[in-house]
Amino acid sequence: MTRTSFPEQGQTRADVLATLKSLKSNDIDWRRGRTPLYVFDAGDDIYEMGRDAFFEFFKENALGKNRAFPSVMKMENDIIDMSLGLLHGESDACGFMTTGGTESIIQAVQSCRNRARHDRKSPTFRGNIVAAYSAHPAFEKAARLMDLEVRRAPVAKDYRADPAAIEALMDENTMMIVGSAPCFPYGVIDPIADLGALAQRRGVWLHVDACVGGYVAPFARMIGRNIPAFDFQVPGVCSISADLHKYGFCPKPASTIYYRDGTCAEFHAFDFDNWPSGRFYTTTICGTRPAGAVASAWAMFHYLGQEGYKRITTELMDFIDLYRAGVEAIPGLRVLGDPHVSVVAFASDDVDLFRVAELMSENGWLPGLLKEPQAIHRLMSLVHAPVLDEYLQDLRQAVDAVRATGATAKGIEATY
Ligand SMILES: *Cc1c(COP(=O)(O)O)cnc(C)c1O
Repeated sequence: MTRTSFPEQGQTRADVLATLKSLKSNDIDWRRGRTPLYVFDAGDDIYEMGRDAFFEFFKENALGKNRAFPSVMKMENDIIDMSLGLLHGESDACGFMTTGGTESIIQAVQSCRNRARHDRKSPTFRGNIVAAYSAHPAFEKAARLMDLEVRRAPVAKDYRADPAAIEALMDENTMMIVGSAPCFPYGVIDPIADLGALAQRRGVWLHVDACVGGYVAPFARMIGRNIPAFDFQVPGVCSISADLHKYGFCPKPASTIYYRDGTCAEFHAFDFDNWPSGRFYTTTICGTRPAGAVASAWAMFHYLGQEGYKRITTELMDFIDLYRAGVEAIPGLRVLGDPHVSVVAFASDDVDLFRVAELMSENGWLPGLLKEPQAIHRLMSLVHAPVLDEYLQDLRQAVDAVRATGATAKGIEATY
């Protein structure tokens, strides 16, 4: 193995920057809508707003918000307050910024476990979590960190979580059940009202994973789209994770976690004093974290306002309608379930879609795949809209080619 060596001498800034640019040349071209996930975009002005706000707070550290940077504290509090309004949190609800959906979920699971330990007067209690098969792996990650168990229940025919299947896996050690709004694989919002009723009846915590939907589903509702209630309006919902760096169109890393019950702040926080430097109190798993991400989220809320988010959501959902119609106009393809926002997967009964994805990838389209059922999957934002026709044309051609030859995939696999 040859290991890249640490350069003896430095290079000029211009050379370094030029090399950075050239390093990108083999990357997937997200600006031309070629990535089915990872990047969320809503136009150049929004990109620039996020970037400029980020660099205004480039050096500050959100870890120091309590003592050194009241600006960061204020911005975080504002973001939490404004978002709680959006998610129908009552006055005693609370929330925190984190660096991503995974961190938000780890924090929610930890708070739930800490509360269960407190309520059950059992300081070593390790409960289980019951989630649909479609729930994000972050719950598994949280469970492995805390030595908990996650049980996955099959989804219903409409690809939403099946409350009866979830209940069948619950026992006296179940502390949390999960609903997604929407789930990553199928883009459908789980029956949160039914899950909330189940959670209340069995006395367990319902976490709603709105990492994808948290900042788009509320606006989709406002513009009259058919979005079922999924937030604190629904009785039984205890916590909600919502990613700013997805459909909030904020720069990474930025997410949020909310609790209906403000006393959860105590179960959420890390508070420690037994070391030489004194009290260490944080509300994130991370220590140091970028204040730029806080500033740019704050900037985005103020730059766009509800009006701006509604305008983007209108454009996005109009595009999604065209996309779905375009896909279903291709013989043999059908959209899975009835996706609520901008995550859409489609399957085929007569062609091997994994082979179709292989052909598409020759045209630069990074495949997004589901293995169950086999499907092509995309999380779309406005960066995909200008290339809609191009995508559908390539898709139709690939489907025709695969149908004509009956070809099957050479070895592509579904990966995130
Ligand atoms: C993206 C996503 C997450 C995790 O978020 P990260 O920001 O990637 O850590 C959790 N749940 C769902 C449904 C997601 O789509």
